Amino acid sequence: MQERFSGSFTQQEPIPEAGIAAAVAVLQHGRLHRYNTAPGEVAEAALLEEEFAALMGAKYCLAVASGGYALGCALRAVGVGPGDAVLTNAFTLAPVPGSIASIGAKPVFVEVTEDLVLDFVDLAVKARASGARVLMLSHMRGHLCDMEALGALCADLGVTIIEDCAHTMGAAWKGVASGRSGLIGCYSMQTYKHINAGEGGFLISDDAEVMARAVLLSGSYMLYGRHSAAPGPEAFEAVRMETPNISGRMDNLRAAILRPQLPLLADRVARWEARYRALEAGLQDTPGLRLVARPAEETFVGSSFQFLLPGWSPARIGAFLTRTLARGVELKWFGAAQPAAFTSRYQHWAYAEPQSLPQTDRILAGLVDMRVPLTFSVEDCAQIARIIRSEVLAVGQGPEPEAAELPVIQ
Ligand SMILES: *Cc1c(COP(=O)(O)O)cnc(C)c1O
Repeated sequence: MQERFSGSFTQQEPIPEAGIAAAVAVLQHGRLHRYNTAPGEVAEAALLEEEFAALMGAKYCLAVASGGYALGCALRAVGVGPGDAVLTNAFTLAPVPGSIASIGAKPVFVEVTEDLVLDFVDLAVKARASGARVLMLSHMRGHLCDMEALGALCADLGVTIIEDCAHTMGAAWKGVASGRSGLIGCYSMQTYKHINAGEGGFLISDDAEVMARAVLLSGSYMLYGRHSAAPGPEAFEAVRMETPNISGRMDNLRAAILRPQLPLLADRVARWEARYRALEAGLQDTPGLRLVARPAEETFVGSSFQFLLPGWSPARIGAFLTRTLARGVELKWFGAAQPAAFTSRYQHWAYAEPQSLPQTDRILAGLVDMRVPLTFSVEDCAQIARIIRSEVLAVGQGPEPEAAELPVIQ
């Protein structure tokens, strides 16, 4: 009998008891809006910002309604406007080009390498050709590029870096936290990320003017003085009248759920690494399957796992996905013709100008992706790896299958 995995790929851990108690307290007093405070009270949202800024070693932090909102807010705060070109990874998820489009700016896609990080040669070419002044760097699926080399290159090109750390909260490059190399770091607290409030986002930065703009943009009215992790009033003087209010605030209920999760982040990162390494060890040296290298300089968060099936036909990959799903293993594929659930790629984003990225196309054609929730044990991951390995061997070495309909994975 073939073994079958019975866990759920979409089941996260519960909210810690302290978060539940804090949420109930907010519900009981009813002051959910971040500026609705009792005399002397500092709102949960402001405390959350103070604590995240301290955790990341940033001067300033702003909590907002979602990760996607944080990205759009960051672009506006650095002065990106309609028609401006913004560089971004060709391999990322829809909220990234969406944040660029939300301003009427134009995504300019940059090739990725087989290690799933930005291709620096193509970055320089695209930066010069487009005249873009901003790079929205997506640390897609937690893979960090050489952040020191990127910083030097972008300084040379006159390009400002905004980091999309939706998959790298808790990660680092040579000990520098992800989100601390660019001008602004953006994070998501959506359920599938590393801390969970259902929805939510952060921006962090050391730049007072940019963060004053971001606070005003997020919908602070003239109550920005209530942001204890924001720059002082002098930073707001010059920009408070000219910055539009585009409401996307964090509320006290979600902030209360999040605060007790911040001290748990380091432990979550360690547990994710153990799961990731079990998958990696189980798939090492599987003929037909290529693992993604993890550089020694990188501290990564293994909340998802990717591998490549280079040169496999769509029909063969389809057969492989169908067979692994029948054994309880839900895999996603970035090479599918149609977007499905959360998974899409740059050709599907018809609001962006059509662009051709042959290197990225070749890589995505064989790229398989898997969620790794912390509800999986290390043994679960070893079992999943055994199932994947046996199906890679069976399908990869079998006859060319007929094209079949793909399973849709959430
Ligand atoms: C989740 C995600 C975001 C932010 O998404 P929200 O759902 O708006 O919080 C941004 N970039 C990537 C790569 C993501 O996966």
